[in-house]
Amino acid sequence: MRKNKIRVNDKVMVMTGKDRGKVGTVKSVLYKDENIVVDQVNMVKRHVKGNPYTGKSGGIQDKEAPMHISNVALVCDSCTKPTRIGFTYTEDGRKLRFCKKCHEMLD
Ligand SMILES: [Zn+2]
Repeated sequence: MRKNKIRVNDKVMVMTGKDRGKVGTVKSVLYKDENIVVDQVNMVKRHVKGNPYTGKSGGIQDKEAPMHISNVALVCDSCTKPTRIGFTYTEDGRKLRFCKKCHEMLD
């Protein structure tokens, strides 16, 4: 069963590594929901080949590298702190996420 703890457009804080403490928005979720790409976080230099047909010039570009979801914590909009997520179910069976700190719904 998928956990779906972190989703696209969620705000997350990095808890480990060189970008520790940075807050960014999730751009994409990859590899069975285990890895995420966060806007402007975990930047790596990437060599890009030029393409004379499309007029693209080659060189080095900064690009976000995917990181494991265990390295980030979701930032709650209500209490603006990195938090743990709890799950609850509505009467019609939908799964909703809530902030374990302030108990606000996140969905
Ligand atoms: Zn909260």
